[in-house]
Amino acid sequence: MRLRNKPWARDAIAQNPDLVIQQPATWKGNWHRCFGRQAPLYIEVGTGKGQFLTGMAKHHPEINFIGIERYESVLVTAMERAKEAELTNLKFLSEDVYDLLDFFADGEVSRLFINFTDPWPKKRHEKRRLTYKDFLAKYEIVLKEKGDIHFKTDNQGLFEYSLHSFSKYGMILHNVSLDLHNSDFEGNIMTEYEEKFAKKGMRIYRCEAQFRTNEESHNL
Ligand code: SAH
Repeated sequence: MRLRNKPWARDAIAQNPDLVIQQPATWKGNWHRCFGRQAPLYIEVGTGKGQFLTGMAKHHPEINFIGIERYESVLVTAMERAKEAELTNLKFLSEDVYDLLDFFADGEVSRLFINFTDPWPKKRHEKRRLTYKDFLAKYEIVLKEKGDIHFKTDNQGLFEYSLHSFSKYGMILHNVSLDLHNSDFEGNIMTEYEEKFAKKGMRIYRCEAQFRTNEESHNL
């Protein structure tokens, strides 16, 4: 993602504390209070400009959504989008996913989305991929039992790597698609990257991965 220096982004974000939550660690274990209601919590890591989560929040008013994005210059667009849509079930964190465990209690999250995350193709950058085992270990902690990850990418190498990473971790894969837009999957909400790549005729890969319960792991 190309980053421009947008000094106004920080100010704009600071002026919308109801949308981009400051000091998110203070809400750990209590996100339902921040939203003012009990509802399943779905999060997206690496939200970018927020097209996906804004669409999801519109289509699923029964779910509370949180998008995490580390670059303010990008997040500010997601914030404006959500503001315009006047959604009460969508919030953002201007944070690094690396610190996920500071923000969410064990089992607080019902589903986690990873969309078009940076592929980091060089082997020496493997640890930066959001499907690297250390990230999976964090996701496993914040996700409730039977919680799952929904993953989409245009990048074949990252997809292959991620399938390996999920299965090496002992996760169960569901609905693996090597060509999402020519599959029978219904209700797809496109991300901004997805729209861009699909227009170029590129294939979109998708899968769902679920952590095993303790019982399932014992029975392996
Ligand atoms: N999900 C969007 C954006 C994809 S680009 C879409 O599908 O269109 C990937 C985004 O993930 C970038 O905006 C990048 O800043 C963000 N990202 C990557 N690693 C991150 C991390 N460790 N913490 C927070 N955001 C991250």
